[in-house]
Amino acid sequence: MAKQAGRDPGARNIRLPSVRALLMAIAFTDILEARRRIAGRVLRTPMRRSAALERVADAPVWLKCEHQQTTGSFKLRGATNAVLSLTEEERTRGVVTFSTGNHGRALSHAANAAGTRAVVCMSALVPPNKVEAIRALGADIRIVGNSQDEAERAASALEKAEGLRRVSPMDDAAVIAGQGTLGMEIMEDAPDLETVLVPLSGGGLISGVALAVKTLSPKTKVVGVGSKRCPAMAASLEAGRPVEVPEEPSLADSLGGGIGLENRHTFGMTKRYVDECVLVGEEDIAAGIRFAYEAEGEVIEGAAAVGIAALLNGSVKPAGPAAIILTGRNIAPDLHRRVINGETPQI
Ligand SMILES: *Cc1c(COP(=O)(O)O)cnc(C)c1O
Repeated sequence: MAKQAGRDPGARNIRLPSVRALLMAIAFTDILEARRRIAGRVLRTPMRRSAALERVADAPVWLKCEHQQTTGSFKLRGATNAVLSLTEEERTRGVVTFSTGNHGRALSHAANAAGTRAVVCMSALVPPNKVEAIRALGADIRIVGNSQDEAERAASALEKAEGLRRVSPMDDAAVIAGQGTLGMEIMEDAPDLETVLVPLSGGGLISGVALAVKTLSPKTKVVGVGSKRCPAMAASLEAGRPVEVPEEPSLADSLGGGIGLENRHTFGMTKRYVDECVLVGEEDIAAGIRFAYEAEGEVIEGAAAVGIAALLNGSVKPAGPAAIILTGRNIAPDLHRRVINGETPQI
């Protein structure tokens, strides 16, 4: 009689994906669906060559100009896909988040455009200009407590009490599929890429992009570039499981926030699809912002500058055509001015 698999001591070493993991897995077809769903609601941003970076890298270099996206970052793709994936019932109640950054902006815009309510919970410490920017995009603002943690708890409470759908900035299947549409556009515009450089924080962007890139062009390398000051994903990959690391404020403020100890998607997808991760420092990020402005005439925020930074400091050396995603442009004008004037402001 055949041994039952569960009784075979050797079988313990074989780690099959759990049924839950298989059911939750995000597929390329989810990205195709996202693309149909969000078409006409987000911009198909331009991709163009950078002569200045080609001199540095000694290879063709493309810039995917996603900082020109509506609301100033790629987050609109995932947020729009998440809002349009709601059931009829969910849509009547709305969505909730506690992000006051690019995800908060994007979700507010996406919900407003779809005629759905977005509630953004924020602490009393959030500066008034940030509050107003989100309100102007049509969100309901709830000011709660004096910390980001309290805002997060308020968002969870609303999810339970009012049945609002909480949309994570990165560890959400619809968000990841939406961000993956960027990977499709990149491979359509430059099918022979050797390397794609992707800014990396919680990994929603790189998970979607890498799935699209590896499906369309398995030989293309996907490299994640993070900030040394907020290295949660790099540390987690090293540890082999999601870990928390102390975080310091960075010029790349949109790269802040961990990956969550209960991470469902992005840790596994990054581990599976991403070839390499590198981290860059504050001086490098400032140099990237400066280069984008002086050589390319582009205003980008710190998080968007890490790909350029990695080419400039030589931590990534592409052996063929490379693409860099410029992810966002939401940087305070006075901070940008200081960087352009040669400073590396301590945040
Ligand atoms: C959110 C964000 C990132 C990082 O995306 P993750 O999905 O968290 O890895 C990079 N750049 C900008 C401008 C962002 O807003």
